[in-house]
Amino acid sequence: MLFPFDNSYSRLPDAFFQRADPTPVSAPIMIRLNHELAADLGIDVARLTSPEGLAVLSGNQRVEGSDPLAMAYSGHQFGGFSPQLGDGRAILLGEVVGKDGVRRDIQLKGSGPTPFSRRGDGRSALGPVLREYVVSEAMAALGVPTTRALAAVASGEEVQREGMVPGGVFTRVAQSHIRIGTFQWFAARDDDHHLRILADHVIARHYPYAMHAENPYLALLDGVIKRQAQLIAHWMQLGFIHGVMNTDNMSVSGETIDYGPCAFLDSYHPLKKFSSIDQQGRYAFGRQGAIAHWNLTRFAETLIPLLDGDSTKSIALAEAALDRFPEIHQTALHERLAAKIGLDQSLTSDWALVTDLLSAMASGEADFTLVFRHLSNALETGDDLPVSTLFAQSESITAWLAAWRARLQATDHRQALALMRRTNPIFIPRNHRIEEAIQAGNRGDYEPFHCLNQVLQKPFTEQAEFAAYEAAPTPMEVVRATFCGT
Ligand code: AMP
Ligand code: MG
Repeated sequence: MLFPFDNSYSRLPDAFFQRADPTPVSAPIMIRLNHELAADLGIDVARLTSPEGLAVLSGNQRVEGSDPLAMAYSGHQFGGFSPQLGDGRAILLGEVVGKDGVRRDIQLKGSGPTPFSRRGDGRSALGPVLREYVVSEAMAALGVPTTRALAAVASGEEVQREGMVPGGVFTRVAQSHIRIGTFQWFAARDDDHHLRILADHVIARHYPYAMHAENPYLALLDGVIKRQAQLIAHWMQLGFIHGVMNTDNMSVSGETIDYGPCAFLDSYHPLKKFSSIDQQGRYAFGRQGAIAHWNLTRFAETLIPLLDGDSTKSIALAEAALDRFPEIHQTALHERLAAKIGLDQSLTSDWALVTDLLSAMASGEADFTLVFRHLSNALETGDDLPVSTLFAQSESITAWLAAWRARLQATDHRQALALMRRTNPIFIPRNHRIEEAIQAGNRGDYEPFHCLNQVLQKPFTEQAEFAAYEAAPTPMEVVRATFCGT
């Protein structure tokens, strides 16, 4: 078998999905195949690189052992509830258990309509395919829990978006594609029977320890809250903005999922947002923790029938679990931001040092990634100039630098430097570089895309030949808005 499929989701009751086959495309071209990931998943890489592999990953050939389906889910989109979403442009081929023993979904995105497509074409433009490939693989290299990219294929067909644009098919790998919205699907239908089957499936798959807890469903809720609280802190340590944190775009496994209008901060501002569809800034950088908490509240609501036989008790349990979110998230965030300035055993008073820096960065419009990169250098060389020139008024950071150096007196400099070096990336997927790769890709030139992927495989390592990829955008290059994959 090309893929060693072992499909657990398709063995769940029919209420969980609709069967759907990929629709072939006319002239597929393999743009990039993730050999390393394929090998880790136990896939025959030689066969995957053959014409057979391309046929499978473009949706042109049914692959042995697959059980293609579109998953059912609902979701709160920008706060409004849609009971009927589901995979409208994605098809789950099946699951494989990788060399690490972890079960993962193999999913095609942009492979044609499904029973959930509504008025959509079930397709994807090439641009979002390239974006998701670059950003999800960069996130993996940065150490963030995330879905992965197995392949990017150009379909050889055009799709209608704002005008006609080249189409693509993306192969995504995830610990599962079960979202908060999957739970909402059954909750919205008052279907406690299937809700329990879903919860048991998720516990067995993602939270096996919860099976042995006194209240497994409460342990599940606690587990999802904890992973999300930590995940969002990890995003914020790196300046990542998801952009569309709807409940159907939040995975219960704790992985980052659905790279639509996502972006990395260049100049820092806590309320920065890029997504063209996020008019109100609901999903702005600094609101991500609060929005995750809101989404998790929607998740907890779905579990009320399972937490206890008495709904008053269920609600009390859910509320107590949700009340733990801010503490877990803040602690993780403080630790991660303190690490960026070299503080390991961080003190409560260090938080003021962190927030003072962020305020100076916001008013000085300083580049988020470069500030921390140059701070690391400054610790090594003693030269503060490269840091202060990043701020619009360079003197605005002088007092802060002195306070920081004073605080570091109490620490081991070598350890502080090592911590900063492994916490602060040199290379991030900068928005203007992604844009450049997409523009070229749309012309059939995939070189900038390959180059970007290569650089981002080692985000913490000096790569002198790629120094240009470190740079913040020039005023001409700044990307102000990003668009969804739709
Ligand atoms: P997303 O923006 O990826 O979170 O998608 C929100 C919902 O719209 C999901 O149910 C998608 O499957 C659906 N959707 C998005 N784009 C398309 C498309 N081109 N064709 C069909 N369904 C789509
Ligand atoms: Mg989605």
